[in-house]
Amino acid sequence: MKRFDAIKKIVEILDEEFVVCNIGIPSKELFHLKDRPQNFYMMGSMGLASSIALGLAISQPEKKIWCIEGDGSLLMNLGSLSTIANVNPSNLTLIVIDNGSYGSTGDQCTYTSNKTNLEVIAEGAGFKSIVKITKVEEIKYILRDLGKGCHFVLIKTNPGSALVSNIPLKPIEIKNRFMQSFTEN
Ligand SMILES: [Mg+2]
Repeated sequence: MKRFDAIKKIVEILDEEFVVCNIGIPSKELFHLKDRPQNFYMMGSMGLASSIALGLAISQPEKKIWCIEGDGSLLMNLGSLSTIANVNPSNLTLIVIDNGSYGSTGDQCTYTSNKTNLEVIAEGAGFKSIVKITKVEEIKYILRDLGKGCHFVLIKTNPGSALVSNIPLKPIEIKNRFMQSFTEN
């Protein structure tokens, strides 16, 4: 499976979840598959999707937050894992799509394609709920059954990105419509 196949399965079960998506092509793929105001396409801040998602989870504990993160960007901000695990919000699922490459810049290898194991790092950071997925058909069943908690979901995929166009929204438009949906009710 490739990242696009994984995101396709994730969006099949999206309901009331708010989604913070990683910079670059992952956000374009998500936009192409299922655009909605509840998606925050993070632009310009590589590595910070999980930190933004944590802030959202803390600010509104009754709302479910999913973060679609990548291996390369998570490696830029590993401290976020220990912060999330220690804060331990009951409404945050960190979904790391690990394709072993920097997909948005030409598929240069990341260290997860060599010795680095994000699952082990998450455990060391303090996550108690860790799931590793290697089969595309497992994705929606596992995500659907996670329930409340602070979850680390590692989806191992092959490198490669879909040929999708740019997101035709300005960053301020993405932010404003997301914040409007997030602060309703
Ligand atoms: Mg990657």
